[in-house]
Amino acid sequence: MTDWTALIRDVPDYPKPGILFKDITPLLADHGAFTRVVGELGDGLEFDKVVGIEARGFILAAPVAYRSGAGFVPVRKKGKLPADTFEASYDLEYGSATIEVHADAFDPGDRVLIVDDVLATGGTARAAVELVRRTGAEVVAVSFLMELSFLSGRDRLPGLDVRTLLTV
Ligand code: AMP
Repeated sequence: MTDWTALIRDVPDYPKPGILFKDITPLLADHGAFTRVVGELGDGLEFDKVVGIEARGFILAAPVAYRSGAGFVPVRKKGKLPADTFEASYDLEYGSATIEVHADAFDPGDRVLIVDDVLATGGTARAAVELVRRTGAEVVAVSFLMELSFLSGRDRLPGLDVRTLLTV
């Protein structure tokens, strides 16, 4: 079986000097590797909806939802969702941003799994957790393909079930 971890490509100095970008496109292009990580991201968890964080989170979260019989909910950059939203702002490893979710995206008591590709500083995931909670839904876990442990993103997600398939 393919070692999917070898299919994550390091791109130095992207999008800024000093950032080592983790490019998952070679992994996505490999059916075996893609299938395997989609299976593992939701493994052993029970949830009603899967949140994907724009944009690479969409690519991973949608098949996790489909495979598990759950719904998919996009968390998008500010200004992209058409109906009423909640918003949260945060700092990134490179820059800052505001993300939004539709105010009516969840049913009361929905169990939600949040999925993204990379846990870096944890700011994005922290903001996504806040958004889900503001709607009244419950975050059951936050699942990442990869964690950049030297940035200590986990520390920004206290009390949460934080899962990563690969730690670097
Ligand atoms: P953070 O809020 O710092 O945890 O950043 C997480 C978000 O930024 C995720 O949506 C990642 O896709 C992206 N990201 C941050 N750092 C990197 C990196 N070194 N390589 C690839 N994506 C990254």
